[in-house]
Amino acid sequence: MAKKLPKTLALLDEDMCTGCEACVSVCPVDCIDTLPGPDFAQVMQLCSIDLPRCIGCTLCAQVCPWDCITMVPTDQMIRDPKFQEELAPR
Ligand code: SF4
Ligand code: SF4
Repeated sequence: MAKKLPKTLALLDEDMCTGCEACVSVCPVDCIDTLPGPDFAQVMQLCSIDLPRCIGCTLCAQVCPWDCITMVPTDQMIRDPKFQEELAPR
């Protein structure tokens, strides 16, 4: 059976993320990773949220010092072509 997604999912604004990792340490399901950033990869990183594993707890959005994570209704995310494949039922 396909996993039921929560009502909201954490949407990251990659342009704002500094890679500080505050969100990584609070995520209870460990679905946030850090990646090398597109510029200055040695010193700047970026976080990445594995959306199918997100449980919508909002903790990451609460702790981000730069307000770059927003909780967005899952229905809205599923309709966005950018996330359709990632959120397709499996
Ligand atoms: S909302 Fe919760 S589960 Fe989802 S990425 Fe943020 S901390 Fe992790
Ligand atoms: S807490 Fe915010 S700035 Fe820090 S890594 Fe997470 S999303 Fe990026």
